[in-house]
Amino acid sequence: MKDYEIVVGLEVHAELSTNTKIYCSCKNSFGSEVNSNCCPICLGMPGTLPTLNEKVVDYAIKMGHALNCTINRVCKQDRKNYFYPDLPKAYQISQSDIPLCEHGYLDVMLDRQGTMKRIGVTRIHIEEDAGKLVHDDSFAGSLVDFNRCGVPLIEIVSEPDMRSSAEAKAYLDGIKAILQCLDVSDCKMQEGSIRCDINVSVREKGSETFNNRVEMKNVNTFSGAVRAIEYETKRQIEVMEAGGTISQETRRWDDVKGVNSLLRSKENAEDYRYFPEPDLLTIVVPEEKVEALKQSLPELPHHRLLRYMNDYRLPHFDANLLVENLEKAAFFEDCIAIGGSQPKSITNWLLGDVSRILNEKNWVLSQSELTPENLMEMIALIESGKISNTTGKTVIKVLMEENKKPSVIVEEKGLVQVSDSSVLEAIVDEVLANNLKLVADYKGGKTNVWGFLVGQCMRASKGKGNPALLRELLEKAIAKL
Ligand code: ADP
Ligand code: ZN
Ligand code: MG
Repeated sequence: MKDYEIVVGLEVHAELSTNTKIYCSCKNSFGSEVNSNCCPICLGMPGTLPTLNEKVVDYAIKMGHALNCTINRVCKQDRKNYFYPDLPKAYQISQSDIPLCEHGYLDVMLDRQGTMKRIGVTRIHIEEDAGKLVHDDSFAGSLVDFNRCGVPLIEIVSEPDMRSSAEAKAYLDGIKAILQCLDVSDCKMQEGSIRCDINVSVREKGSETFNNRVEMKNVNTFSGAVRAIEYETKRQIEVMEAGGTISQETRRWDDVKGVNSLLRSKENAEDYRYFPEPDLLTIVVPEEKVEALKQSLPELPHHRLLRYMNDYRLPHFDANLLVENLEKAAFFEDCIAIGGSQPKSITNWLLGDVSRILNEKNWVLSQSELTPENLMEMIALIESGKISNTTGKTVIKVLMEENKKPSVIVEEKGLVQVSDSSVLEAIVDEVLANNLKLVADYKGGKTNVWGFLVGQCMRASKGKGNPALLRELLEKAIAKL
């Protein structure tokens, strides 16, 4: 078999979380009663006129800035004509030749070592969503819900720059994280807030030209996208290995069966007869507004990830967990600002015991009493040897529920680490006396009992023994036996 390379380009549709629809004042909300968020405008009644929702333009420009696009301050909207029962106007208002944003890119991280890849973003344009067909088994036919008609969308079109399903997944995850961080889309996959069209072609490795692409429409989960790409790649390679060629066509991905099937070929591709929307004015965005929206962007997730890995030497795993939870990230940065400990010691507690306790209590961080000051003081107590790491686990539980100084908790509960050799020696002797058989095993070469003996000593000290000193004394005592 020849060596093949896959080429993937993605078109991501994201519903924007504006309060109202794109061309009317109907509510933009999911899950309302069927056909309750509709008006003559979004139903396309003759004689009605659309008015563009300014927020839609703002949100799209923000996304354009985040993806390093050129913003076309002057652009227009166009009619895309087609017939389908969920589209009462028989056209969708979209943008054809002049999109609001174009020529951008997104840098994605491909692995834990931080290998980066730049994926080109061809364009971002605004458009309206269509309604939804509802299939009801008790009824021979389909019903239609127009609530989604006129829900604002942005379509983000990538260059054919991805070379594996993993790269496509990294790109999709990156786009989703930015949409959420900018608060322009709720990204609820199960509600269809993000959907993508997937374009796949396969070529011989080393080839400079692209082969015909196959497009799979409306895939609505990212794991489904990965499966669809892998299935289609395999299908194309099989066709090529059998001496066939791939023709440009659209196929429907069935995620339940895990297969795709032909929808239409190029010969009967749709002609949408785009023309400029006569009922809407040219969009003209003032330069100051474009700039102000740029200044309003928060730090983007992929930038934050890189900063944590580079500036704080955090492993990818830790950095990523922080980036996914802005509340924890802010807490981490407050801890860093206080200073005194390694960033990794902070994330060990924050992503370890603290997160575990939050999960158990079903809390978010702000529902606990833990403050950055208290966490940092507790870590300092451990690092100075005043309390053991094991004792820290007891203290952190209290700190989650009470805003009290760790040193006070340690004092009150009598948790100060025991570093008095004579006290620890007595503990070691007792543990050894109770475990003579294990000691013999150990001396006979069964070194795996070591951990158990250390654990027994720690337990006998009620978790307060200085672990390093205990180990040292234990080793000496065994040597003497
Ligand atoms: P259409 O309107 O027909 O879907 P677009 O230009 O909007 O066309 O989208 C084309 C998509 O297909 C882009 O994401 C692009 O990167 C991708 N694409 C183009 N050529 C290829 C190819 N040979 N192999 C894979 N993807 C491709
Ligand atoms: Zn309406
Ligand atoms: Mg397309």
